[in-house]
Amino acid sequence: MSKLVLIRDSKFQLHLPPTTHPESPERLAAIDQAFYKGALESAIDQLEPRFADENEISLVHTASYVEQLQIKAGDTANGLVVQLDDDTFMSPQTFDVAKMAVGAGLVAIDAISKNKFQNAFVSVRPPGHHALKSKAMGFCLFNNIAVAARYAQRKCGYKKIFIIDWDVHHGNGTQDLFYDDPTICFLSLHQYPFWPGTGAIAEDGRGDGKGFNINIPMPEGSGDRGYLAAFDQIVKPIGLEFQPDLILVSAGYDAHRSDPLGGQNISTSGFAMLSQRLSDLSDQTGAKVVCFLEGGYDVNALSASAIATMRVLNAVDARDLANVHVSYLIPGAASGLDPITNDNRPYQVDEQIAAVRKHFAPYWHSLK
Ligand SMILES: [Zn+2]
Repeated sequence: MSKLVLIRDSKFQLHLPPTTHPESPERLAAIDQAFYKGALESAIDQLEPRFADENEISLVHTASYVEQLQIKAGDTANGLVVQLDDDTFMSPQTFDVAKMAVGAGLVAIDAISKNKFQNAFVSVRPPGHHALKSKAMGFCLFNNIAVAARYAQRKCGYKKIFIIDWDVHHGNGTQDLFYDDPTICFLSLHQYPFWPGTGAIAEDGRGDGKGFNINIPMPEGSGDRGYLAAFDQIVKPIGLEFQPDLILVSAGYDAHRSDPLGGQNISTSGFAMLSQRLSDLSDQTGAKVVCFLEGGYDVNALSASAIATMRVLNAVDARDLANVHVSYLIPGAASGLDPITNDNRPYQVDEQIAAVRKHFAPYWHSLK
């Protein structure tokens, strides 16, 4: 049995936005191709997704929203593509595929809660982190990671969940759903200012949840150094202090330097190193890790980076891998073909990290 389990299915490619849309079926096809090309099927076990039912989806969404989408799904029966917002679409199979994307996360939670696997990677589309309680947004219909978090608490006995969101866009949907909840600590690293406009430091939670919603707005052009510094100086200390019993990750790869939407400068090696830090945090807290695919629109960068995360989280001895992963993951990296990138705005990045630490020091001793 492998350390990491992959939840995947080619049926996730049946959600068909207009052909020019960046959130294309080719994204998952590329990940599958890289997975088999790397002969990972012998190293990483796989599980099939299932459909989430209405009660499960209603853990975070309203029943009327689910019903509304079902009615719109009826409108697609003749092959029509229905538009839900500026950039979110439903094709004939989308409703079923979206329910299966939610269900894939629940399969992952069940598998790790029964101690079958240490970690999981949920390779799905449509993505989820922009989806609100009763509104589709930014390519997302249902908030896959948020449903999984609530399901983990209600069905599997997990109490404290740390959600880390490293997609280049702010995870506004997830923030909104858990804004007043101290049992789910939501932390987002994202380009800022940037779409969707939310994600300022001052958006720090409400009521009992005050201090448990952490935004790290990264200047455009932050690269590996900037993101790793933010992880080391904010994500890690908060993670160790929060002591979660489960870590969920909105793993988007649109902060990659090749991404057509994002303006960040992270390399594939950078994502491997972020994944390594995640693995270290998991070792230090004893919390298992489940990654949910979110964005990532350059199919080569996306597939290489997602595979890097899978390999790191499947490594049996993380410390060994830490010393070798650059050459292990990326042929040519050691020769400088894919060097570790520095961020383009180190002073701004460091100032921003300091500002986040200062703002949250009253809530987290480890930031003082
Ligand atoms: Zn994104």
